[in-house]
Amino acid sequence: MSGKSLFYPPKMGRIMLLGMEEIMGEKGVNAVLGLSSLEGSIQYPLPAKLNTPFSFETISHLQNALELAYGPHGGRGTALRIGRACFKYGLKEYGSMLGLTEMTFRLLPLPMKLHLGAKAFADLFNKHTDQKVRIEEAGDKILWHIERCPLCWERKSKESMCHLAVGLLQESLYWLSGGKMFNVEETACISRGDAACTISIDRTPL
Ligand SMILES: [Zn+2]
Repeated sequence: MSGKSLFYPPKMGRIMLLGMEEIMGEKGVNAVLGLSSLEGSIQYPLPAKLNTPFSFETISHLQNALELAYGPHGGRGTALRIGRACFKYGLKEYGSMLGLTEMTFRLLPLPMKLHLGAKAFADLFNKHTDQKVRIEEAGDKILWHIERCPLCWERKSKESMCHLAVGLLQESLYWLSGGKMFNVEETACISRGDAACTISIDRTPL
């Protein structure tokens, strides 16, 4: 590691806070910011325009604070729901740039939408953030490898912990497929000593 800090741009930090606010309310967000000792370092309540980028340390501290606030099980459920809520804010911010909201894309058959959607989504992170994502299409699965992950940044755990990413992918698949559910699970996590955080997606809906 070079010691240089890694970041999400302000727009993406804002999306994460909007998702948190939708699930936990303003009070809940304030409580979590307090638990993560990030009070004061994040502009909250959200201003119309957020100017500060979110460091990977900040993002990881926020995930940890969810566990402190709700316990390991409740924290996991809350992070999943926040991830799902983040999707619509992300779509609003980046959807047209990615071409995902164009009719030509929406009319493609599902396998093609999954293939192109995964690539566009990975490119968004690779080009606009310090997060690194690699897509592997393996038979009936799409593997979303987060090779540099802000969610579990500098954390150690026995269990996978990047639940927010799982929720975000679940909701993007739901949207992409016009309302179908897919099996999505994190099968490897850097916090457990794995090389990447791997989220395995079944190509066929449930
Ligand atoms: Zn991770």
